Amino acid sequence: MAAREFSQLIELQRIVEAGAAHFDTRVVCEVSSGQHRFPVYAIAMGNPDPMLPAIGFFGGFHGLERIGTEVVLAYLDNLAMRLKWDRTLHDMLEHVRLVFMPLVNPAGVWRGTRANHNGIDLMRNAPVRAAVRVPLLLGGQRISPRLPWYCGIEGQGMEAENLAVCAVVEAELLSRPFSMSVDCHSGFGAADRIWFPYAHTREPIAHLAEMYALQEIFRDTHANHRYIFEPQSEQYLAHGDVWDHLYLQSLQLAERVFLPLTLEMGSWIWVKKNPRQLFSRHGMFNPLIAHRQQRVLRRHLPLLDFFARAARSHHRWLPAETTKAQHVKDAMAHWYAGRAPVGAA
Ligand SMILES: [Zn+2]
Repeated sequence: MAAREFSQLIELQRIVEAGAAHFDTRVVCEVSSGQHRFPVYAIAMGNPDPMLPAIGFFGGFHGLERIGTEVVLAYLDNLAMRLKWDRTLHDMLEHVRLVFMPLVNPAGVWRGTRANHNGIDLMRNAPVRAAVRVPLLLGGQRISPRLPWYCGIEGQGMEAENLAVCAVVEAELLSRPFSMSVDCHSGFGAADRIWFPYAHTREPIAHLAEMYALQEIFRDTHANHRYIFEPQSEQYLAHGDVWDHLYLQSLQLAERVFLPLTLEMGSWIWVKKNPRQLFSRHGMFNPLIAHRQQRVLRRHLPLLDFFARAARSHHRWLPAETTKAQHVKDAMAHWYAGRAPVGAA
């Protein structure tokens, strides 16, 4: 079987070569579609000391959303180039570990499908189920792989790509006292959103104070930013969310803070500017005009860099025990319409 190449995979391999002196690159799994075989890469850099913080950048869970992979690749390329001259980046990498999986679902990208080669939506495939009703189909379904948002067969376990993501997150992120992740998607709504768990319930996460503090430093250092920072459950609930699954897993470990984020790039703006995109399978999820794509890539690079810096400097912004209660109160008012937090006195 020959490995099948396509532009995002070729670009990933080019960047890996350019940064080879500083990158620790592994093929964490291989997936086959028909007679083609595709590697799933994980690239790590920075200090591997397990007491230091780490952040993971993920893209390409959904094959149609190529711009997600391209944003992660643009940041990885930026780092590879800066490592040649940027002393401040080298200094930063002595204090933080960065991990990249830019192309989680290569078979889906190559085929131009949201799902993987088995017809399974990787973001509906984890063993976490919503206890309440989810939107029909969109929230995840077990009816058929021919319909979108297919979760896979009950009890069959996760797909190879998701097992690879979980193994990388467990080894590189959950093994540390503090970690974050940013998973890049496109296609939902007209605004750019930063989502945090949960997707399977409207209840707030245990680290709401920490998430609120992160949102505060982001807001304070990015005047006029256009991101909507919110729990995913604010938009819709879903079964099988991998980040919910990994976040719940982190709660089983003592003294861990793991803050998973999803960047949802609002593609309806691109479609509004060029309604013909509605008739292209890729167009709904990706800016089709080169200058628009460049603008999208440019706009999100500072965001990814901000999160890397936030991970490295987490001691400086994580709320102290004495201020946590106030952060939770503010967060409940901001995101949960003032509901009392679960378990709060
Ligand atoms: Zn997506």
